Amino acid sequence: MASQGESKWVYSFGAGVTEGRADMRNLLGGKGANLAEMANLGLPVPPGFTITTELCTYYYANGRQYPPELKSQVDSAIVRLEEVMGARFGDAANPLLVSVRSGARASMPGMMDTVLNLGLNDATAQGLAKRSGDARFAYDSYRRFIQMYSNVVLNVEHHHFEEILDDHKRRGGFKLDTDLSADDWQAVIEEYKRAVERTLGTPFPQDVQEQVWGAIGAVFGSWMNQRAITYRRLHDIPASWGTAVNVQCMVFGNMGNDCATGVAFTRNPSTGENAFYGEYLVNAQGEDVVAGIRTPQHLTIAGKLANKSDLPSMEEVMPEVFQQLDEVRLQLEKHYRDMQDIEFTVQQGKLYMLQTRNGKRTAPAALKIAVDFAAEGLITQEEAVQRIDPASLDQLLHPTLDPKAERKIIAKGLPASPGAASGKVCFTADEAEALAAKGESVILCRVETSPEDIHGMHAAAGIITSRGGMTSHAAVVARGMGRACVCGAGDLRIDAKGKTISVMGYEIREGDVVTIDGSTGEVMLGEVPTVQPELSGDFATLMGWADKIRRMKIRTNAETPLDARTARKFGAEGIGLSRTEHMFFDPDRITSVREMILAENEAGRRAALAKLEPFQKQDFVELFTIMAGLPVTIRLLDPPLHEFLPHSEKDMAEVAKSLGTDLLHVQHRAAQLHEQNPMLGHRGCRLGISYPEIYEMQARAIFAAVAEVAKTTGQAVTPEVMVPLIVTKKEFDILKAVIDKAAQQVKDSTGQDFDYMVGTMIELPRACLKAAEIAETAEFFSFGTNDLTQTILGLSRDDAGSFLPEYQRQGILEQDPFQSLDQEGVGELVAIAAERGRSVRPDIKLGICGEHGGDPASISFCEKVGLDYVSCSPYRVPIARLAAAQAALSADTVKRD
Ligand code: ADP
Ligand code: MG
Ligand code: MG
Repeated sequence: MASQGESKWVYSFGAGVTEGRADMRNLLGGKGANLAEMANLGLPVPPGFTITTELCTYYYANGRQYPPELKSQVDSAIVRLEEVMGARFGDAANPLLVSVRSGARASMPGMMDTVLNLGLNDATAQGLAKRSGDARFAYDSYRRFIQMYSNVVLNVEHHHFEEILDDHKRRGGFKLDTDLSADDWQAVIEEYKRAVERTLGTPFPQDVQEQVWGAIGAVFGSWMNQRAITYRRLHDIPASWGTAVNVQCMVFGNMGNDCATGVAFTRNPSTGENAFYGEYLVNAQGEDVVAGIRTPQHLTIAGKLANKSDLPSMEEVMPEVFQQLDEVRLQLEKHYRDMQDIEFTVQQGKLYMLQTRNGKRTAPAALKIAVDFAAEGLITQEEAVQRIDPASLDQLLHPTLDPKAERKIIAKGLPASPGAASGKVCFTADEAEALAAKGESVILCRVETSPEDIHGMHAAAGIITSRGGMTSHAAVVARGMGRACVCGAGDLRIDAKGKTISVMGYEIREGDVVTIDGSTGEVMLGEVPTVQPELSGDFATLMGWADKIRRMKIRTNAETPLDARTARKFGAEGIGLSRTEHMFFDPDRITSVREMILAENEAGRRAALAKLEPFQKQDFVELFTIMAGLPVTIRLLDPPLHEFLPHSEKDMAEVAKSLGTDLLHVQHRAAQLHEQNPMLGHRGCRLGISYPEIYEMQARAIFAAVAEVAKTTGQAVTPEVMVPLIVTKKEFDILKAVIDKAAQQVKDSTGQDFDYMVGTMIELPRACLKAAEIAETAEFFSFGTNDLTQTILGLSRDDAGSFLPEYQRQGILEQDPFQSLDQEGVGELVAIAAERGRSVRPDIKLGICGEHGGDPASISFCEKVGLDYVSCSPYRVPIARLAAAQAALSADTVKRD
């Protein structure tokens, strides 16, 4: 409550005074904004207030100092809570207790810890015991507070408290925490306090003001802890966003058997099924449900049955509260128009909502939920298309376990995050990261995971835990990251120190290969073969919607029949790049290729090329047949010739023998062809200029294939013949004449007519600048952004790996320019080339090939420049279809704005 002229740092919510809204997430953080929104909706939210993310920014900008007016704003917000609750902060007879909760703009699960029951001390705990008439509850709350506060704020490690509690339980013969009486807890509390004092040299703080400011400071401080920094780095969250702090009146799930705490998803986050999905615990508090201390119970009867649990569901135990919660579920989904992840507490039969946010989900669930929401009329088809992260489709496009393959199942846990993964067993996050960096597939095996393991989980192909449920840290994080995960596989005895897993008489060691199926929860010995995914159902529906929306065509980079077929199955509308040199490496052909290279003169080269021509023609017949009339761009020979030569002396001798020449001759020719910098050497169209007969043969093979396919299948093919590495119009014109002549030859010899286009790959800066001139004769441009990136940045793709990460770390380059197009630099030249090309030839066909064609951010750039198509590897075709639709939608909004 700011007075005039002051900045407002504190926003209240609940009990009639709510100053925030869902759309104030940037200021109030996700948690604060949604608490305010739920209060606005009239849902039962315990009152509280949010200290803004701007304060976090102020705090770090000012040497970790608060603005002077903060204190009075917090004080008056607390006074309001005291008034509405009829209790006083620090009052021994009737204490107000609060939680202090972090909440950043983007949800950062597990990153910053919450302190519950703040306001308890020796005197107020006694007061709470008296006033509630439940001493066990009061001291249970106090011991929780001491442990949480000491850990989060004072950095006293958990094990101090765990040892004391374990010890006490063992001595008293207790199994569960709930077995302990008030007296037991009081004894534990005394030991806790002694442990704190021993560790810190000062007693546990009894002053509630010191407590609340300590907790607030800890939340802001945690924004810069290592876990938070790592998480932000992995999720591209800027440090400047800051976190908010929420201070909220406590409600108690630990006051007896009519109390409970729980977490739930409004729909199943694994499958997307429209069924309430969650877990709860009776007489428990806070994160007991996810902490794995007690086995959580299912919310619904259906959930209980499906998971073969013998513990009663909330639907059975507290039918009325469950009914109310189920209504809240529907209300929240309608309001937020998305699946929600909620946290709630029941105090003496009364429901309180403590959090809601859009729920993380697997890729299949995201598809199902988007399609269902559109079908239910909650969102439009366009919104459904915008909801799916194109990169997440990767999970669906990749193989699943072959159902016919033999599986040596050694354990079964919970199907926590779907997908199949095989890899070497690893026991720590650091090892997983190191091994993955070497290109190994890794399965990270832990008893349970914690936020410190995130980098290892990210590096791993799959994750196994032996403890924890469907909402455990491992499960939630794995689903978010799209990693396969099996949780709570209790049969596995994971010994992280000894680096072994023992199960069913087997001993699995570090480096042994296991396979997991995150959709069934199975853990298998060795590597299990996989099968291609089936792209039907919700996937097909959503892709259909995306196809209606997008403007750009999606093509694929393919030269083998297998790739071409896969790409078509994934919806490719043509081939944007077919590299002819790959066809040269075939064992049947490489000898003729070598013969051609080694020939002394044109006649010798022509003789060798004549042997290759039927093979090339056959390749194109096959491609054209598979592509059934769709456009196919064929790039003429591009790499330097020496790439085809044998390298070792042994191979050279073999070639010499098969060619009837001597080793010396082969060595001599190889030495002649050697270049200091082949990337910028005798390659691409420069070969065509030196040896036009090579391009002539290739062009003739292409056109002969066109004629043959037209004759045998009746399918007209319009090939796009692409000349690589052009820098001048003259180069292009000379080669275009060679190609045109070959076309005429085929037309004459077959008596068939056909259409074709001749264009160029734009992959050098000069070509971008001279695009207008080149477009006078070139009918299409395809941006070869791999080489274009190399030549514009003067950066070798093969060598950049050693220093690019440092460039990214220091923020010099935001992204690897080979993965995501450097829009500012390379992009500007692409835009210039497109514009200049169109100025001369308005209908010039423009496309992009190269890795960037499958990258959503680069695709969005292509939409802005107005390219006609993007071309990417077969497995990325669906990603590109969706990304192109999203790009068209955002281009639309830009136009409308
Ligand atoms: P996280 O960001 O890790 O989810 P939260 O701030 O949501 O942390 O707190 C974790 C849990 O603590 C909540 O799910 C809830 O069960 C409990 N909690 C937080 N605030 C309160 C409160 N005011 N009253 C009761 N329980 C609370
Ligand atoms: Mg937490
Ligand atoms: Mg929470």
